[in-house]
Amino acid sequence: QLLTNTEGLTSELSDLDKKHLIHPVAVPKHHASKGPKIIFSKGDGINVKDLNEHTYIDGVSMLWNVNVGHGKKELADVAHHQMSKMAYSSTFYGYGNEPAIRLAEKISRLTPGDLNTVFFTSGGSESNDTAFKLSRFYWQLKGFKDKRKIISLRRGYHGVTVSAQRATGIDAFRNFSGSTDPDIVNAKAHLTECELGDKTHPEYSGCIRSVIEELGADKIAAVIVEPIQGAGGVHVPPEGYLKAVRALCDEFNILLIADEVICGFGRTGEMFGVSHWDITPDLMSIAKGITSGYAQLGGVVMNDRVADTIKEYNDILPHGFTYSGHPTACAVGLKNIEIVEREGLVKNAYKMGKELEKGFTYLEEKHEFFTNPRTVGLLAGFDLMKDPVVNIPFDSSVQAAVSVVEECYQRGLLIRCFDFEPGMNIVAVAPPLIIQKQEIETIISILDEAMTAFSQKVKW
Ligand code: PLP
Repeated sequence: QLLTNTEGLTSELSDLDKKHLIHPVAVPKHHASKGPKIIFSKGDGINVKDLNEHTYIDGVSMLWNVNVGHGKKELADVAHHQMSKMAYSSTFYGYGNEPAIRLAEKISRLTPGDLNTVFFTSGGSESNDTAFKLSRFYWQLKGFKDKRKIISLRRGYHGVTVSAQRATGIDAFRNFSGSTDPDIVNAKAHLTECELGDKTHPEYSGCIRSVIEELGADKIAAVIVEPIQGAGGVHVPPEGYLKAVRALCDEFNILLIADEVICGFGRTGEMFGVSHWDITPDLMSIAKGITSGYAQLGGVVMNDRVADTIKEYNDILPHGFTYSGHPTACAVGLKNIEIVEREGLVKNAYKMGKELEKGFTYLEEKHEFFTNPRTVGLLAGFDLMKDPVVNIPFDSSVQAAVSVVEECYQRGLLIRCFDFEPGMNIVAVAPPLIIQKQEIETIISILDEAMTAFSQKVKW
């Protein structure tokens, strides 16, 4: 009887969804006929359940954000408590609230160097648009009105508000709907070694330095980079790369924005991604892991140079979101950071990343088409290639990454793939930071079975 009821509910909700919802990053036509793939109902730890009580391992922390795992009652309690006292108050017009003030102070203590001042947003895209605007505004205040352009990288993902969309170096997102921002320039190279000063590097003409030389530093406000590119396919910069970008920005008097929306708050086994390479950006975009997805929150953290200049401005700052500094979201953010610290989740991400790495080594030895594994804490990915030894990709008709992800789904593991460039078949794994060794082993054994099933089905 119970099963019938939940099946009835699933089918009712599926019909309503098809009729009334357009889903982000889904195929509308397919969705309008098939409906939602899973209707989630609850979560606990690294697991989530659908309405029919089918359990899945959340192998990518939903959208790389549920860092403390699902079902943390403490976070629900703190939201309930704050909502009961005062659910919402504005931070416009100089109004304040305690959770926003305390969270800003906490963030300033966690972030490296003199990143001491926060502007709150409701998510990552808003954070990046805010970082672009504040960078340009900083230069205006300094008397450099022409310094407006923002340089981003190929395969960077920075969100979907118009400027963040244009900074995103994935064509489908970047060009969607023809929306534009003429001041965003996408460098054609992705994370390569050409910033390290090698003008003979084959990708030199597309790298950040060559874009600066072409546009003129007097036109450029900032460079934005993810410490590790996430949605572009989990690309880890070569050693020395981010230091070279930092030096480049200093050389040409350009601000450096680090997009820590995925990396921030422990994902990579350091509190922030930039710490792996010992650099401090001028501005840092944060979101996702700040609340582990339990509430919508983002922010831009500024260094003293930028913040002090803005603090000298003696007129209204015409920028802000209704939910900038939302008290409930900030209270959840504070409790979430407390959990990350109390449970030692940054260290656990590092340790479990090493376990994942071991598992990847096993998979690489066993499956010839599994290649280029990378794990930095619990931000991990690998490529699938028909013949990695001589660099032959799978034919696009094989849909290698999509097929492996589907095989995992059939076995109760949710992971993600990226195949937006010809020959690209990347799979990402990024479980919640609370994961334990045995659970990593389960993920590896499901991946193993999934790849065996894929290799038996594919026409070699
Ligand atoms: N920046 C990075 C690095 C991201 O991965 C994302 C989202 O995945 C964003 C920005 C955009 O964040 P949001 O979807 O919260 O707007």
